[in-house]
Amino acid sequence: MYSFTPELHHVRIRQEVLDLTADMPRIDQTTELYRPLWEHLGRNGLPGMAIPETYGGRGFDALTTVIALEALGYGHADNGFNFSVAAHLLACVIPLWLYGSEELKSAYLPGLCSGRLIAANGMSEPSSGSDAFSMKTTARSCPDGYCVQGSKTFVSNGPIADTVLLYAATDPDKGFLGGISALWIDKTIHPYSSGDELAKAGLHHSTLGTLFFEDLIVPTRYLVGQEGRGAHVFNRSMEWERTCLGALHMGNLHRLIDRCVKQLRSGFQTGIPRESRQVVMHDLAFIQTRLEAVRLQTYAAAWKMDQQKPAGREAAMAKLAVSELYKQESQRLAEIFAEIGDPDRDAEQSALDAVSSTLYSGTSEMQKMIIAQSMGL
Ligand SMILES: Cc1cc2nc3c(=O)[nH]c(=O)nc-3n(C[C@H](O)[C@H](O)[C@H](O)COP(=O)(O)OP(=O)(O)OC[C@H]3O[C@@H](n4cnc5c(N)ncnc54)[C@H](O)[C@@H]3O)c2cc1C
Repeated sequence: MYSFTPELHHVRIRQEVLDLTADMPRIDQTTELYRPLWEHLGRNGLPGMAIPETYGGRGFDALTTVIALEALGYGHADNGFNFSVAAHLLACVIPLWLYGSEELKSAYLPGLCSGRLIAANGMSEPSSGSDAFSMKTTARSCPDGYCVQGSKTFVSNGPIADTVLLYAATDPDKGFLGGISALWIDKTIHPYSSGDELAKAGLHHSTLGTLFFEDLIVPTRYLVGQEGRGAHVFNRSMEWERTCLGALHMGNLHRLIDRCVKQLRSGFQTGIPRESRQVVMHDLAFIQTRLEAVRLQTYAAAWKMDQQKPAGREAAMAKLAVSELYKQESQRLAEIFAEIGDPDRDAEQSALDAVSSTLYSGTSEMQKMIIAQSMGL
């Protein structure tokens, strides 16, 4: 039986996150306020919201995670910070919980859930992005475990991370099937170097960087999942990320629509020309319609994950639909706000923040490939 009525605990969690974000300031990661802001969310276990409470998380399922992230995207206008928290949770903390040894989980999950530790995910390299599994970084077997050699780029949180979920080729000849492994890197134990922070148009408070690993010895106990099962770990983390991360974008669009409606209602009363008024009204109605369609699609993908069913196709569809909507409609909203006034530049900044949404977690072309394959093409 279908039901579209929100559960009481979903309503409560949405309100809890909205209350928590109400007083969060916009900050710069160069100030000493950046980590306290992570810890502010961490007091409620939000950086590890999908992790069981025994490790310091909240035990949210995928649907509840989507609803909480949507509230974060709505309530906190700093899209870069929100993106950093979601990347930490979805691409690093969740795979550690799903595939890490008990020793690794006990050692790291409490700090990752409380906001004390920040994690990054190292897959992309200077010469491999969409074709991630053609990576050059190797982790060759050595007497003490693995000797890691190579570099990773476009690493979100990379410049500030305490830990990195690193993907490396343990058997380069085997490639995608059996040749890639995931390793947990603790910067204090396994030192590596970072390049300068990479500049980007938006997501300013999410740091992005390149990491270099030179003859880094990592003991076997830092494997996340079995040797050669890195592709599996990565694909599962991407299922979570593609389903849940777009919730931030939906929350961002929802906030902009609400603000726009509020401003326009007061503007209409003071007399905006009738013709302009109708164009804007129609555009907003269409954006609202698209947003509600995409929200249902995202909730359905999360629901399928919660039924423990493979949801790679639904995750790709949700990611494709949300990111394309976000990029197009945040642009239109920024145009509307440019006419009616955008005092804190929320809409303008959101349009810039949206630019890279069709790239990370796999580009739109890559999502189309996954969907086409699932159609037997
Ligand atoms: C803000 C941001 C944060 C990121 N965070 C992380 C992170 O934390 N960790 C990490 O590992 N990576 C991260 N990335 C990297 C991201 O995953 C890659 O940018 C993405 O996978 C694309 O890789 P690429 O940039 O090398 O582009 P390419 O793979 O070189 O693609 C270039 C263009 O060609 C298209 N293309 C490529 N192959 C095909 C094909 N076979 N068929 C059709 N079209 C194709 C692509 O869709 C794209 O339009 C981040 C990127 C950004 C922008």
